[in-house]
Amino acid sequence: MAQILDGKALASQVRKELKSRVSEGVQNGLPQPGLATLLVGDDPASHVYVKFKRRACEEVGFQNFHIELPSDTSQADLLDKIEELNQNSEVHGILVQLPLPKGLDEAAVLEAVAATKDADGFHPMNQGALMQGRQSLRPCTPLGIMRIIEESGMDLNGKKAVVVGRSNIVGKPIALMLLEKHATVSVCHSRTADLAAEVRAADVVVAAVGRAHLVQGDWIKEGAVVIDVGINRLEDGSLTGDVDFEEASKRASWITPVPGGVGPMTIAMLLSNTLKAAWGE
Ligand code: NAD
Repeated sequence: MAQILDGKALASQVRKELKSRVSEGVQNGLPQPGLATLLVGDDPASHVYVKFKRRACEEVGFQNFHIELPSDTSQADLLDKIEELNQNSEVHGILVQLPLPKGLDEAAVLEAVAATKDADGFHPMNQGALMQGRQSLRPCTPLGIMRIIEESGMDLNGKKAVVVGRSNIVGKPIALMLLEKHATVSVCHSRTADLAAEVRAADVVVAAVGRAHLVQGDWIKEGAVVIDVGINRLEDGSLTGDVDFEEASKRASWITPVPGGVGPMTIAMLLSNTLKAAWGE
């Protein structure tokens, strides 16, 4: 039976560490880290996510600059707002909550955020730096996943890792980070010919698709580490992941639950990126 990789507990530990670093740093004259959260429109899930991020900010002693704009905000007005935040020396990290309402150019908006304040790690400069293995602001969800894998104690060197999903925010960057740690990485997606066979060969599985229980329990290799990124809402309102947790737990050595796995670590890494942006560490 798999052991649970408790992202909630790990995230709480990370926040505690950040809190004490912030209070010590500020006492020693370092600036109080500031994160701007920018929310456009009225997507209910986005409002919930931003609320969690703002709460986490306050908990660790960051300043939070919160901006809400209506869904009919023009591209030009949004870019002006981002430029204002780029120029504000109290703002060290900028988070633009995605998805943006229809009609706004997401790629142009993400590129408008100063790369040095890109707390989400989505700017093309930072994504390019990651590809070259340079230190930069890296995307939060993959950073959180790497911390979780570290907790499992698995040495990735020479292991076979299978990533399911190829998005710019999870699938591609986590593949690069696993590669950096010397795993042999396959990236699977909607056109992969035989997903079950790919997953069956994996020592580490990262599922980031957004389809409830796509990854079946009997696909999991005995002893594999299973990281479930997916967030899927069931008809009864509950959340579930991309992996059939119950069945996969019988074969995996370690597994993340949904909720309480990758999600809380994503927010913890957002804070960690903001501190890095503020203090240049
Ligand atoms: P996305 O929605 O941009 O893309 C989904 C990916 O899944 C695509 O690359 C596609 O090729 C692949 N895919 C679709 N159907 C497939 C199939 N049948 N077989 C194999 N691959 C298939 O991806 P995303 O933005 O990375 O989000 C993925 C999931 O992760 C979503 O549920 C999202 O809510 C969740 N997510 C969670 C967090 C977190 O912090 N926990 C963060 C980001 C995303």
